[in-house]
Amino acid sequence: MVLSGLSDAQAALAEAIGAASRIVAFTGAGVSTECGVPDFRSKDSPWRRLPPIPYDLFVADELMREEAWRRKFALDDIYARASPGRGHYALANLAALNEENSIVTQNIDNLHQTSGAPPDRVIELHGNGTYARCLACGLRYELAPIRLEFEASGRVPLCGCGGYVKSATISFGQPMPQEALARACEAAVACDLFLAIGSSLVVYPAAALPTLAREHDARLIIVNGEETPLDYEAELVLRGDIGDILQPFAS
Ligand code: NAD
Repeated sequence: MVLSGLSDAQAALAEAIGAASRIVAFTGAGVSTECGVPDFRSKDSPWRRLPPIPYDLFVADELMREEAWRRKFALDDIYARASPGRGHYALANLAALNEENSIVTQNIDNLHQTSGAPPDRVIELHGNGTYARCLACGLRYELAPIRLEFEASGRVPLCGCGGYVKSATISFGQPMPQEALARACEAAVACDLFLAIGSSLVVYPAAALPTLAREHDARLIIVNGEETPLDYEAELVLRGDIGDILQPFAS
């Protein structure tokens, strides 16, 4: 069933949350648009102008690594001042309700953690764009010194071990973080309410999680502004603005 009236959507969500004992909130870029972080597929999205460099090109070619860092910093400038929105605060409150509740996110913007959600219960499927790592040894690097050096010399960062340093996000073609994926699958299997919020549900394997949860008897509720390919699987589709629908849970 699709609910597009705001008060009906809020009431249905309150009922489902009240009845659940273990909740997974699965989020995509739509939860962050009200914070000034553009989503991926909207028609005027800067991600279309500056698409991420695929992983195989990044590792194969110095010029591609330079371009990847140029695009990364240009995108970072667009949402440098983003801070959590109503959706993030609502989901942080939901995580605080019960230690079994978790947030599984495709987002790379760190806003769930900034909103106060316990970091150990935020499972990042596509990494985190607020720092970098060496692809060979995994050492963490902060972005500010990398950017200073890149803008001064044009040189891309290289780890002391000789490995390439890359934004700690998962690029197209890059292996998924296996531990995060395994934890997300466990959470989907164990929950009794799976809320898919602000995702177009087309990026796999992440988009397989709602179906996995439903196959293990969880209630599936999709909150999104437009149709998704998994709407037909959901018990309820709450169509509207995420911040508006989650507002009652945000304070
Ligand atoms: P997507 O852009 O494919 O889908 C976002 C969905 O949210 C769309 O269906 C859109 O209509 C909806 N939406 C946007 N704002 C909304 C609002 N205020 N209310 C209701 N619905 C709204 O994003 P995706 O499914 O997360 O896939 C994109 C990939 O790109 C992800 O893997 C992610 O790693 C990456 N990405 C992340 C960020 C971020 O961290 N914030 C931003 C852009 C892209």
